[in-house]
Amino acid sequence: KNQIIGMVGLGAMGGPIAANLVKAGFSVKVFDLSDDAVSKLTALGAGRASSAAEAARDANVVITMLPNGPHVESAVFGENGIVTTISTDALYIDMSTIQPQVTDSIATRLAEKNISMIDAPVGRQTQHAIEGKLLIMVGGSEDNFKRALPVLNFLGDTIYHCGDVGAGGRMKVVNNYMSIVLNQVTAEALVMAEAAGLDVSQSLEVMRGTVAGQGHMSTTYPSKVLKGDTEPGFMVDLANKDLGLALEMSASLGVPAFTGAVARQVYSLASREGFGRQDWTALYQYNRLCIQK
Ligand code: NAD
Repeated sequence: KNQIIGMVGLGAMGGPIAANLVKAGFSVKVFDLSDDAVSKLTALGAGRASSAAEAARDANVVITMLPNGPHVESAVFGENGIVTTISTDALYIDMSTIQPQVTDSIATRLAEKNISMIDAPVGRQTQHAIEGKLLIMVGGSEDNFKRALPVLNFLGDTIYHCGDVGAGGRMKVVNNYMSIVLNQVTAEALVMAEAAGLDVSQSLEVMRGTVAGQGHMSTTYPSKVLKGDTEPGFMVDLANKDLGLALEMSASLGVPAFTGAVARQVYSLASREGFGRQDWTALYQYNRLCIQK
């Protein structure tokens, strides 16, 4: 608790994170390009830093929570950047969501100066940041992960060590790929339901009771394909037939089925490659062929 934390980036996520660190009793020095954002934190008891370098000076832990890679590179290596003052005994934690290869390059450049870094991007929303209930995906050495935990425990209630530095961001990118694409297919399904004359809230309730709403990850995958079981409960060819029904219905209603049109090609190709009579989750094996070559 008598640690000094430098925090750079006080937006929708960084603001509540810094506030929680102040509340936890750390001595927090904050910097943001926006003076308003800084003032909100100083009102709560944080110290005002005039640059990223000043926030990092004398700090035991330095955290960035910035929009994207270029912002992080500029806060670390730019004029008055973190690297000009950070101690080699300090730990640098980037919590921003950025391209993992940029994380790799920042970590390599810092390692050349004997500065330790982990990446710790977050899942969930602003409300969770406010409540200290973020999901945090950490990449870094075991030692640095352990060093970060006493701080991260005030920010999140679910913390995973995903591998070496960069692994947190890689996990975050994979996670977001899924949730972002699911958003689109969810929207298509509910628009299709409405256009077909169904009650939208009832449709939501129906789908929450099936794989549609519960998700393959909570239902079919753990019990089937991840155990190497491709024996059909529900065959690829039957799923492809039902997808055809949905695409015909969407065409007759004149509503979008963009993700369905792409999935149709995958199911058809998988069927042609010999997966037709396997369980529908064998689409995973079909896609995996790409990394086995
Ligand atoms: P935001 O735009 O609200 O805040 C970013 C802050 O960084 C701003 O206050 C801005 O003034 C400041 N800033 C930009 N460049 C700077 C620099 N060089 N030096 C100092 N300050 C600088 O963004 P956010 O919503 O807090 O998101 C931060 C990161 O968290 C992003 O990578 C985002 O993808 C990720 N994230 C956001 C959410 C969410 O729900 N908002 C959820 C999960 C992850």
